[in-house]
Amino acid sequence: MKLISTAGSPTTVTFKEAVAHGLAPDGGLYMPIDLPVLPVSFWQGLRGKRVHEIASLLLKTVISDEFDEAFIDELCADAFNFEVPIIPLTDRAGVMELFHGPTLAFKDFGARFMARIMPECKVSNNGRPLTVLTATSGDTGAAVAQGFHGVEGVRVFVLYPEGKVTPLQERQFSTLGGNVTSLAVNGTFDDCQRMVKEAFSDATLSRDYNLTSANSINIARLLPQMIYYVSAWSVLPPAIVLPGITFVVPSGNFGNLTAGLFAWKMGLPGVRFISSTNANDIVPKFIENGSFEPRASVQTISNAMDVGNPSNFDRILAIFDNDHTKLRGFLGAAAVSDETTRDVIRKVWARHRYLVDPHTATGLEVWNNMHQLPHFNNSYGVILSTAHPAKFIETMEEAVPGETRIPERLSALSDKEVLSKHIPADVSILRELITSE
Ligand SMILES: *Cc1c(COP(=O)(O)O)cnc(C)c1O
Repeated sequence: MKLISTAGSPTTVTFKEAVAHGLAPDGGLYMPIDLPVLPVSFWQGLRGKRVHEIASLLLKTVISDEFDEAFIDELCADAFNFEVPIIPLTDRAGVMELFHGPTLAFKDFGARFMARIMPECKVSNNGRPLTVLTATSGDTGAAVAQGFHGVEGVRVFVLYPEGKVTPLQERQFSTLGGNVTSLAVNGTFDDCQRMVKEAFSDATLSRDYNLTSANSINIARLLPQMIYYVSAWSVLPPAIVLPGITFVVPSGNFGNLTAGLFAWKMGLPGVRFISSTNANDIVPKFIENGSFEPRASVQTISNAMDVGNPSNFDRILAIFDNDHTKLRGFLGAAAVSDETTRDVIRKVWARHRYLVDPHTATGLEVWNNMHQLPHFNNSYGVILSTAHPAKFIETMEEAVPGETRIPERLSALSDKEVLSKHIPADVSILRELITSE
């Protein structure tokens, strides 16, 4: 696979190089430039296959020039060992549950793949371990920390805004210890993201300590997120698939949506996309009026989407040749308030006896409002359920008291000790921690 930076530098890199660097040296994001367009027969051949088999077949078409096919098979069997069911809600729409991995959120797909492929992508031989820096608004940290925990030759720093993730989210990444260091930053998610970017832009630090990113800016996070879009296409009956599927994607940094667009670029037939956001509506505003105005994030009950400067925006623009009109003609997007989100959780429970988490609820609301539009109205809606409702128990209790069961995997965490170091939103402190091995 060959990739180039969205910031315009003409140098191409391999997948391994892009994974090792995370961000391109010119500050841009790596974009694949040679994604194959696969024929309908390829997609049809995936019917009846298991999730990890779909993963292998798909990923081999893009990275088998750099990895053994047997290695890819093994990696996929190990990383994608959980189901991705689609729960029908109406005869026109279903919820695709992406939360059956170990941390109960879709980020397990990206993180589990990345943790297994990253040690193969190391570029330097300076004897130091890879240092993974990741900023999280909640779920990324959990998926990355658990994905990498105990992986040899890698250490992980998780930065998160203190007090702005739920106690359970915090425990998913801050109780592991070992090669995982969690940093409670006195600031916002955007501060955390900025600190990570500043550390990377220090070329010496970055080289000497083999810095790399596990955020959705890393291409290794995005490729495996194509899998479930493809899986949905392969498990839904042809009568549903043929008129088309609209994927509704609750979005924050827009990595998930970008992965879906990659699958579309690779020829997945008849798919369309709608993205839902909370009050952090930078992308819906952009689609509406063509002006991109990042701003400080505001806190909402769908906190994994509290992003004021979506890091994958440039990738999405690049997919549409930086043409606002093209993007607007294809992609739907709308924002949902916290009040409406709670209301949706209540209504879906009342009508279908089905619990959705606040992120998924934004998707359901937007689908309800947009599925009649001409561009979407003959398609089947697949709403991506990005997390298990129990991860947002406070909000669930407010909306539908007493109904949310906490899975064992989560409840076991509440006895564990939080090991985080508390630091100010200052990159020099992060630097000290990185260099004081
Ligand atoms: C990360 C996350 C999102 C947003 O995904 P992006 O790829 O950043 O757009 C939505 N919901 C949940 C539960 C998440 O953890």
